[in-house]
Amino acid sequence: MSIVTRFAPSPTGHLHLGHAHSALFGWHAAVDHGGRFLLRIEDIDPARCRPEFERDLIEDLEWLGLDWPRPVRRQSEHLDDYRAALERLDSLGVTYPCFCTRREIEEEIARAGHAPHGPDGPLYPGTCRALTAGERADRIARRLPFAVRIDVARASDSAGPLTWHDRAAGMVPATPRVLGDAVLARKDVPTSYHLSVTVDDHLQGVTLVTRGKDLFCATHLHRLLQALLGYPTPEYHHHGLLTNERGERLAKRDRAVSLRALRAAGRTPAEVRAMAGFP
Ligand code: GLU
Repeated sequence: MSIVTRFAPSPTGHLHLGHAHSALFGWHAAVDHGGRFLLRIEDIDPARCRPEFERDLIEDLEWLGLDWPRPVRRQSEHLDDYRAALERLDSLGVTYPCFCTRREIEEEIARAGHAPHGPDGPLYPGTCRALTAGERADRIARRLPFAVRIDVARASDSAGPLTWHDRAAGMVPATPRVLGDAVLARKDVPTSYHLSVTVDDHLQGVTLVTRGKDLFCATHLHRLLQALLGYPTPEYHHHGLLTNERGERLAKRDRAVSLRALRAAGRTPAEVRAMAGFP
């Protein structure tokens, strides 16, 4: 089977050397083996994504020497696909509407005195999971905004034990409970990172998901969603992250290592590829 990988940036800032590493990692994993490399624009967050960042990142990646089939998939143009997947999950009875505000969640966690922690902080305490059908119907009738969360315990029980294969970590047992009842559709956007990435990787025929180790834990949930939605599981390769001189992971705020800044300083694409770990 021919390898299909993708690089899936969010256009919320300029690409830096860490992104170049990730893009080149995916590109080599496919193209060096006769496979295909895709670019996907993850722009579901209208408050943070900007068209000029998309334009600039495409220009930066082309300058770096990468290419990919057009047109690129832009998530904001495929909300119907995510809606359909969400309906399928709803019909399995593994989701619930969550009316909590951020503040109510914080207060509930403070009241409880402790909360289990996931990779991104304290887990959602499950307040709205306990609502009765009548309470839910009443809040929906009152047009209270709601997010949709996965009932991760119920979903995991119904899916049974799951594993995935990571090229670096080997066979990994999926433990989606570490992420708690994650949001599948936000109040302001009818999807979430977890849902749209799982749907897109499937619809685009991605066979090898390459991305940074910072997203390793997210794969536990993606694997569960694949099982619930009846998707085959791709292989994974979570790669190490580039760090700055202080040993911290590169971030969009590290302006000095943005591809634009390196280019303006006269670096060639070959030099930048070498700085990103691919001489
Ligand atoms: N859009 C995500 C990001 O920019 C990457 C998603 C993925 O590779 O799964 O961090």
